[in-house]
Amino acid sequence: MRLLAAACVLAPALAWGQPPLDAAIAEIRDQARFVPDKALVQLQKMEPAARAAPPATKAEFLAQLSFAWRQLGKHETALLLADELVVFGRAQGDAVILAKGLLSKAYVLSSMSERKAAHELAFEAEKIANGTADLALRVQATITSGQSYAEQGNFPVALAKLQTAVDLGRQIDDLLPLATALNAMALLYGQMKEYDKGWEVLDESVRIADKLDSPGRRVLARKTEYGLAIDSKQPKRALAALQAGLELGRQMGARSLVADTLVNLSDSYLKQHDYPKALRYSVEALQAGAELNDLGLNATAYVNKGQAELGMGRLAEGKKSFEAGLAHFQKIGDKPELQAVLMEYGQALERVGDYAGAINAYHRERAISSDLFEQQRQKAMWDLQEKYETEKKRRQIELLSRENQVKSAEIDNRRLQQRVWWLLAVVFALASVIVGLLYRKVRQANAQLEVKNMELKAQSSLDPLTSLYNRRHFQEFMRTHNHVERRGAAGEDIVGALFLLDVDHFKHVNDTYGHAAGDVVLKLIAENLRVALRETDMIVRWGGEEFLAFLPAIPRSGVDEIARRILTTISAQRIEYQGHSFGVNVSVGFAPFPLIPADTPLPWERAVNLVDMALYLAKAHGRNRAYGVRGFDRFSQTSMEAIEQDLERAWRAGFVDLSVVLGGSPDAPPPPNEHSNVVPLKQAFKAGN
Ligand code: GH3
Ligand code: MG
Ligand code: MG
Repeated sequence: MRLLAAACVLAPALAWGQPPLDAAIAEIRDQARFVPDKALVQLQKMEPAARAAPPATKAEFLAQLSFAWRQLGKHETALLLADELVVFGRAQGDAVILAKGLLSKAYVLSSMSERKAAHELAFEAEKIANGTADLALRVQATITSGQSYAEQGNFPVALAKLQTAVDLGRQIDDLLPLATALNAMALLYGQMKEYDKGWEVLDESVRIADKLDSPGRRVLARKTEYGLAIDSKQPKRALAALQAGLELGRQMGARSLVADTLVNLSDSYLKQHDYPKALRYSVEALQAGAELNDLGLNATAYVNKGQAELGMGRLAEGKKSFEAGLAHFQKIGDKPELQAVLMEYGQALERVGDYAGAINAYHRERAISSDLFEQQRQKAMWDLQEKYETEKKRRQIELLSRENQVKSAEIDNRRLQQRVWWLLAVVFALASVIVGLLYRKVRQANAQLEVKNMELKAQSSLDPLTSLYNRRHFQEFMRTHNHVERRGAAGEDIVGALFLLDVDHFKHVNDTYGHAAGDVVLKLIAENLRVALRETDMIVRWGGEEFLAFLPAIPRSGVDEIARRILTTISAQRIEYQGHSFGVNVSVGFAPFPLIPADTPLPWERAVNLVDMALYLAKAHGRNRAYGVRGFDRFSQTSMEAIEQDLERAWRAGFVDLSVVLGGSPDAPPPPNEHSNVVPLKQAFKAGN
């Protein structure tokens, strides 16, 4: 027994562009499905206007036109129109139009039994439609996709799709998409043998069809009712539904619906074993469907005819009809259907006693079954593999992203480290610069300090008026230096020498010309001493108008000559002061240094003291002269203390050897008459008195 469980292909959904034309096209939707010949007349009338209309209107028109041609069995024309729609959608870059085109093509290919290609188009159309806001289109595409899954035997996915379609349909004011979705779902429940649910959904489908007041929808609902009733063993209800549907279809002039119903009527009578009636309706169905070019319908009608004939014992005719039906199914490529039909074929042959034929049918059935099983197994494997690959990819991506995170963290870390290093380097460089600057400053300050110290030291050892060394410096110098007699290169006696000078009648200068003039005199004397002596000689301001010169190394024979030079240099100097011009003399006491009376050298203080005594003698004997201690004689008969007590007496007694150097004849106060020559001691002494 065969019932027509052909997929419930629905009318294309609505999409509006131009109101009056859109409304007219919408009106035609049901007609195009159920009475395509009538629809075609109207569609051809509006063709020029529709083709010139905005893209949305034109697209809907092409979809309906393709659909009508398809329903009329004119597959090629329908296919051309569907292709035109696809091209138009692509050119417009319009997803709605493209999806409509793909769906139209899917319907035509499905009618042409190109199921695989039809399914692929349906899935693609669904994907594209879901990217649009056109809910009616999405419902249509989702239903078509769900039915394609059902045709592939994947009922769970098919059901999920149809449920989605119903949910979407409920969101639209237009009831047609919902009616279509509900009918498709009721059919699917029937295929899944979920009859209770099927009835439930059908009830709603009928209610919606009533609301729509669409005879075509009512016929479809009857058809679904029949399928559910027959499968759930309610033959009377099934028959009633069919007869009601046939009646409605005939009223409508819906030829394909009528043909469908006739096939189902034959099926219904087969179930009641009323073979003559079954035969009659199947033949009628074949006649009705002859122009429809519907392979599925023809196939089912042939199989039913074969069943009826076999039931009536017409073996050869029955086999022929069955084979014709099987050939159609084969052509369609519907293996599940083919398998089911072969099974029925085998059972029918068995019933009529054609066991060989039955076995042959079973063998064919088995071959397809294992083929199907293999296909399903492979599909499951592919699904699994795909799932595995997806999972693997997901894990790889996860791994990569984790790796990425770690790497970017590492890079961040390195960057941070680099920054810290840079910062440290900058801080270090800055610190170095600052330390360097500070160090330089400190060094400069130290150097300045050193200079200042030296200046201070120099100042503390210098006499401010004459810039000669002061007495303290000389004392310091003498304390730290050892002075011993040395021998010259040519066997000459090289000695040090001390000269002590005192300006003669200096008070008189101060008194006559003023204290400032006295200062000028002191400065000039200092200058002259510097000129007269060497740089290595130490010249000291000893007191008020007293100077001391220490010469570290001169030939013993040259000491007197130095004394003379001092006397003459100073007395030769003219002093010009505030219009006055005058000269000054000095008196000098001197001695070689160190002085060694016996074996031990005299300490410097005592040597200076002795020189001072000699100076005193020079003053006493007439000034402007120099008295020098040359050495000691018969020292064993006296003592140093005795000599120091009275130099003059020691000199007279011959214990001390003195030399006298006379200065020139200067322009100096109290006139001494001496000559600037070394004179005999006694004479000099006398002259001084
Ligand atoms: P003589 O030494 O020849 O016996 O006579 P004198 O006039 O030089 O004698 P005395 O030693 O008594 O006088 C020294 C004077 O020198 C006393 C003092 O006022 C003066 N005198 C000392 N120091 C300075 C000074 O720095 N500048 C000036 N202008 N006078 C000074
Ligand atoms: Mg004096
Ligand atoms: Mg004096």
